[in-house]
Amino acid sequence: MHPNDPHLRSFIDVKADSDFPIQNLPYGVFSTASDASPRVGIAIGDYVLDLAALQAAKLLDLPDGVFAQPSINAFMALGPRVWSATRARISELLRHDNAELRDNAALRAKALMPMRDAKLHLPLRVEGFTDFYSSKEHASNVGAMFRDKTNPLLPNWLHIPIGYNGRASTVVVSGTKIHRPHGQLKPPSADVPSFGPCKRLDFELEIGFVVGQPSARGEMLSEQQAEQMIFGFTLLNDWSARDIQQWEYVPLGPFQAKAFATSISPWIVTREALEPFRTHGPAQDPAPLPYLQQQGANNYDMALEVALCTPKMTEAARISATNFKYMYWSSVQQLVHHASSGCAMSVGDLLGSGTVSGPEKDQLGSLLELSWNGTQPVQLPGGEQRGFLEDGDSLVMRGWCQGDGYRVGFGEVEGTVLAAK
Ligand code: MN
Repeated sequence: MHPNDPHLRSFIDVKADSDFPIQNLPYGVFSTASDASPRVGIAIGDYVLDLAALQAAKLLDLPDGVFAQPSINAFMALGPRVWSATRARISELLRHDNAELRDNAALRAKALMPMRDAKLHLPLRVEGFTDFYSSKEHASNVGAMFRDKTNPLLPNWLHIPIGYNGRASTVVVSGTKIHRPHGQLKPPSADVPSFGPCKRLDFELEIGFVVGQPSARGEMLSEQQAEQMIFGFTLLNDWSARDIQQWEYVPLGPFQAKAFATSISPWIVTREALEPFRTHGPAQDPAPLPYLQQQGANNYDMALEVALCTPKMTEAARISATNFKYMYWSSVQQLVHHASSGCAMSVGDLLGSGTVSGPEKDQLGSLLELSWNGTQPVQLPGGEQRGFLEDGDSLVMRGWCQGDGYRVGFGEVEGTVLAAK
């Protein structure tokens, strides 16, 4: 059976609403109290399966030590045929009717551990981070607020997947606390700028994708080549300092406003696991230039949610629910465009989709939009409201693709805001 077959069952009990059934098998990096060395594992139900231990037991036929590493980069470098064969083999080992791991109690005790006992690390060594701006709804909302209500999209937006080169050094894993950044602020009411803690701290709900194969400098990519280079996807929170951004972004785009932290979820869901959930994106009109043209279903039907918990609340409240399928530019178009100048892509590059906002008011992927730049604060249960994030606020993003009786999910990306240092 194909590893995406909805009928597959594991000998490990997986609840129907788990993000990690046998049809998913996302990659991450973890360590445990008994073994502090970070190594590669996959998530299955409420467990982590130690792939380094499986390989040491000779159940995986791969180069020595490829999983006994603090990142998935060495594994990604082996290429899409190996990704696919390895996923099929792990799926086979986890099936309810395969005895190799199921009936090997000693190996199971060594290789399978409850996820709550594992410390989850940043799963990849991020070589480069690029962030796009590919939701038409988001770009239109921001344009209407910051520039021109009647003509919110700049003329290039419908022709180019707009992006900027971000900072790989500040990508952190879910659970990492985020200090409010300092920066230059000049609200419209002030005559001169001042330097201090950001007052308009925001999140951006995004999906990141990980480049698992390199391209040579000077080489353009076809749609098919770009597709094959994408290893997998992750939830991404592109923390943003709106007041710093508004003062600095003309003429070269965001700089320090987005260079202090970007959080990602600990599990990388493979491109292959998302195949059953392909769907058509919005019609692209005008037609993109030939190098960006794509046929077929190039987006994914993926539910996304954002929840906020203030220090006074006892549980997080959902403040947005949208879908990745609304993105105007696809991940493949973003990658093709990125390499189109001859820019070399590297194993471990992380590319952010841009804020995912849908057409409805409750489908917006940032507080900037949800509160319309602070003028219509979001009402929270218990009576509090938020225009932007305050110290102590915790933000959680979740995402999943719903199958028939199972879901292929991402887990969560969480971050709590601390006062400026
Ligand atoms: Mn962003």
